[in-house]
Amino acid sequence: MPRIAVIEKDKCNPTGCGGYLCIRTCPLNRAGKEAIVVGADGKAEIHEEVVNDACQVCVKICPYGAIHMVNLPSEVGNPLHKYGRDGFRLYSLPYPIFGKVVGILGVNGIGKSVAIKILAQVESPNFARDKPADMQEIIDHFKGTEAQLFFQKVRDGNIKVAYKPQAVDLLPRAAAGKVRDLLLKVDEQGRFEKVVSDLELKDFLDNELSQISGGELQRVALAATALKAANLFIFDEPSTYLDIRQRIKMSGFVQSLSTADSGVIAVEHDLIILDYIADLVHVMYGESGAYGVVSLPKATRNAINSYLAGMLREENVRFRAYPIKFKQGLPQSAGKPIRLVGWTEVKKALGSFSLSAEPGSFNRHEVVGIVGENGIGKTTFIRMLAGVLKQDSGELDSQVKVSYKAQYISTESEESVASILSNAVDKHEARIIRPLDLKNLLLRPLSKLSGGELQRVAIAACLAREADLYLLDEPSAYLDVEQRLLVAKVIREFADTFGKTAVVVDHDLLFIDQISDRLMVFTGRPAVSGHATGPLPVEDGMNSFLAELGITMRRDPESKRPRINKQDSQLDRKQRAEGKLYGG
Ligand code: ADP
Ligand code: SF4
Repeated sequence: MPRIAVIEKDKCNPTGCGGYLCIRTCPLNRAGKEAIVVGADGKAEIHEEVVNDACQVCVKICPYGAIHMVNLPSEVGNPLHKYGRDGFRLYSLPYPIFGKVVGILGVNGIGKSVAIKILAQVESPNFARDKPADMQEIIDHFKGTEAQLFFQKVRDGNIKVAYKPQAVDLLPRAAAGKVRDLLLKVDEQGRFEKVVSDLELKDFLDNELSQISGGELQRVALAATALKAANLFIFDEPSTYLDIRQRIKMSGFVQSLSTADSGVIAVEHDLIILDYIADLVHVMYGESGAYGVVSLPKATRNAINSYLAGMLREENVRFRAYPIKFKQGLPQSAGKPIRLVGWTEVKKALGSFSLSAEPGSFNRHEVVGIVGENGIGKTTFIRMLAGVLKQDSGELDSQVKVSYKAQYISTESEESVASILSNAVDKHEARIIRPLDLKNLLLRPLSKLSGGELQRVAIAACLAREADLYLLDEPSAYLDVEQRLLVAKVIREFADTFGKTAVVVDHDLLFIDQISDRLMVFTGRPAVSGHATGPLPVEDGMNSFLAELGITMRRDPESKRPRINKQDSQLDRKQRAEGKLYGG
């Protein structure tokens, strides 16, 4: 089995590890060989032709988790692209198909962005050599495949790419000014009015980019991409920060961009949305940070189920030792519920917005999911429970101490992860630090973390604070599917073990389904009025929420994951007739 050795240069910090710890401790180096040396960039450089197959000393000793030594599946062949002598390798590519939305599914760090950069012609494949390959070589490499046709079009100047990056939080740093001006500047096809109407941007066109919310930024980024005169539209995580109604709307919008003359590629970790949006999906597997392989395109249902199973039958590859399973109807914590806080019918007006809540209560040991559109009063409600806001009418039977993780967590702080998480490291090493895989991040500054890393740190910091109620706003943002499920497990176990209450606001309904003991539903009109019901049993809550959205869902018989039914399909009509919008 071929073996590769990789050093993630952005993680390698020779000063932080006390001076090339790997080089100093490598048994081969100590025996006079040059297995790991100081590279031209001052970082460690590993020579895979020298390293010993059985030795993993450097992998284990690096405090930043920068070194990988992994066995490759033998059938992957030679890399299509490799960074430097010992960097990340990509072994194949997804490819766009005109008239189709092609999805990409894989864990973070598996090379999705590298693949996208190659398709967008930002990066040229180098076939693991020290210079980019020329176009004819690339075309020859893909002979007889769809990718060959794609690169021929690239060569002939017939592919123009528009690309929406993952981190929309960074948009205000790249561009200043009003939303309207930004969009008019990139409107290459005179479609401004249509796109503004499709993505519902009208209400904040005259706001400054720096003043708008995450969900609004996401829609501006989607619009700016779609306005370009392109024939390949690439969307990296288009659903982040959007509420579920907006996610469904966005899906239709993105689909409308794939026509006979144009194609769409979308990376998406909300499996319900990926399932809904994509015609075909490539699964990417390998080892995060070390190498990535792209599967052949598969029908969406088959691709998602294969991904969850950890096994690609057609390729005969097992890429995860265990399947990911979804549970239907989570076990409630044993024993009689212990009430944390209860409320009568409560009302609150804030400027022109008004909120009403039906009577309800939160228990200790439970996780309550909250679903509802953005701007509908979810945070206002919790702030009343915390006593930060006083209700206009109605009673709360106690006041609770709340620890809050905000939705939006971008930071430029040079503070280290260890200083933010010192509480968690002292008290929750086994329950939070280890399962969320935070150990290798502790010495890094917050400013150097990726979106997914920052999210996990923010979740850990929130849980480590002393409180009764933990409010986590969109903890799924920037996490991949496996991380979402891990986070669900960590939050559930935390609440159950310590008798706390966790309230999770999220728009990934699969995540909500997996994390919630009960569900609270917010309905109404964003920025005008909100109405809270529950907490209810999850199925009842979902039924009333889906009724509000006007959709139905079934469960996939194989993986048990919820899927959106096609409007007016046989199943859709049957479930509506039975009043079971959230089908089993
Ligand atoms: P994903 O998009 O699937 O989360 P990425 O494509 O961002 O993953 O990254 C895959 C790997 O490629 C990461 O380990 C990353 O550090 C590495 N990588 C990306 N760009 C470069 C580069 N310019 N030089 C070296 N390594 C890179
Ligand atoms: Fe230090 Fe790890 Fe870099 Fe080696 S790879 S120099 S141990 S940070």
